[in-house]
Amino acid sequence: MSSMIRPIMRHAPQVRRHTAPARSPVFGVDHDRIARAVREILIAVGENPDREGLVDTPARVARAYAETFAGLREDAGEHLERTFDHEASGDDVVMLRNIEFSSLCEHHLAPFLGRAHVAYLPSGGKVTGLSKLARTVDVFARRPQLQERLTAQIADALVEHLQPRGVAVLIEGEHMCMRVRGAKKADAKMVTTAMRGVYTEDRELRREVLALLRGVGD
Ligand code: ZN
Repeated sequence: MSSMIRPIMRHAPQVRRHTAPARSPVFGVDHDRIARAVREILIAVGENPDREGLVDTPARVARAYAETFAGLREDAGEHLERTFDHEASGDDVVMLRNIEFSSLCEHHLAPFLGRAHVAYLPSGGKVTGLSKLARTVDVFARRPQLQERLTAQIADALVEHLQPRGVAVLIEGEHMCMRVRGAKKADAKMVTTAMRGVYTEDRELRREVLALLRGVGD
């Protein structure tokens, strides 16, 4: 019995990610409670939640929120601690650009989405797979979030799990709360950066990595 359970536990994060969202209730999310709350919102705005177009909406929103907030029950270490050794000089940057993400701003529960660009300078040849960098972005994006904190959390996770010489993260985000409410600035992009290690100390290295992160010369 236990020999059957162990492999399932070990691969739990992947199983969760690859199953169809509509059929996989994510652990720890109270779907019924979300559905009841959405029904309340519909009533509060003067809608009839029992009309044909809306009758399945509360359950649909509950499933979507379970996915959107799946990062609350994940740990970036699950991904980042799968490292491998790579012989490289201390000055070789590892970078992944254009990591698409979508998140929900915690002030309005409105989507914000964009691209994250992540770079680090490995120390002692300790590197992680590029896909793990992308998953780390998702772990932190799939929470009620602020772009500033998202940027910092990605950088801090890399520091914690890879102990690199330096980390640089740049995120460009479009915020729906800005597009459709109040300010109505459709093309405004928010840019945030987080620098750690040598990139906080060495101005020349920081200038170089920022140019790479921005894709200058692409
Ligand atoms: Zn907002």
